[in-house]
Amino acid sequence: MIRFHTPFDGKRFIGDKQKQVFHDSYYEPGPARLGGCQINHVAPEDVRIFDPDSPAEAIEQGFAPCPECLWIEQGLHELGVRARASGRAS
Ligand SMILES: [Zn+2]
Repeated sequence: MIRFHTPFDGKRFIGDKQKQVFHDSYYEPGPARLGGCQINHVAPEDVRIFDPDSPAEAIEQGFAPCPECLWIEQGLHELGVRARASGRAS
C-alpha cells in the first residue's frame, strides 16, 4: 500500500535506515506476514526514500531488499519469463 503522507511521500520503495533494508510498498505482505516484513514498523525518522524510486537505486545506496515483500515481484517476473520461454503461445 502506497503511503502518501510524510515521510513516505507516495514513494514505492521505502528504506529502513536502522536495518539497511528496503521494502516494496506495492507488494507488502498482509498482516499475517508483516512480522517478517516490518514495513509498518519503520520509525518515521528511519525512513529513507530514493530518487529515482527504484530497487537499483536502493541497492546502490547500500540497502538490501526485504525478503518478505521484494521477492514477490521477482518471482512473478521469473514465472512470466519462463511461461513465455516455454513457447506455449501459438
Ligand atoms: Zn518488506
